[in-house]
Amino acid sequence: MSLFGLGSRNQRTFRPKKNAPSGSKGAQLQKHIDVTLGSGNFREAVRLPPGEDINEWLAVNTVDFFNQVNILYGTLTEFCTPSDCPSMTAGPTYKYRWADGVTIKNPIEVSAPKYVEYLMDWIEVQLDDESIFPQKLGAPFPPNFRDFVKTIFKRLFRVYAHIYHSHFQKIVSLKEEAHLNTCFKHFVLFTWEFRLVEIAQLAPLHDLVESILQF
Ligand SMILES: [Zn+2]
Repeated sequence: MSLFGLGSRNQRTFRPKKNAPSGSKGAQLQKHIDVTLGSGNFREAVRLPPGEDINEWLAVNTVDFFNQVNILYGTLTEFCTPSDCPSMTAGPTYKYRWADGVTIKNPIEVSAPKYVEYLMDWIEVQLDDESIFPQKLGAPFPPNFRDFVKTIFKRLFRVYAHIYHSHFQKIVSLKEEAHLNTCFKHFVLFTWEFRLVEIAQLAPLHDLVESILQF
């Protein structure tokens, strides 16, 4: 991890796709997500499959949503630059400052691309930490696992909020809006199903979130 972001641009832009945790079990759950989503059944796609472990399900989906955001934002890196987006905003009223509570305790104002870089680096460290996301089938999850997941979802939401508010026109011109909307709908329904993000945190995309939850 490079906190100073030197010489690692390509690595960040083309961050490799993360594999589902817990080996074949994770792959099996990932397949369930793909099949149910492919059939257009979002409600079914987010629900815990019968007999499955809730933590396994949260873990596989967390990795999946991380990968989706990584790919979506990756298509915008040449447009989301420090000069275009000097701060991490979500519309005119919301601005996020970065702190991870460990190396950066007092929130700092950074450009949107820097913020997303910090954010994705931070999530990647959590996903790679086997004491939080065990890779081996049957290895225990920490008792506060859901708290880690909630923080990850809260932060991933901010990337969506920034994309929708600052880069939606570019997304349209790249013909990616259907994909963005599908990813975000899945994200919101999953978040809602397991109460992962406080409703107040979703305020920057309130209307969109409401339209998704009321269909
Ligand atoms: Zn931007």
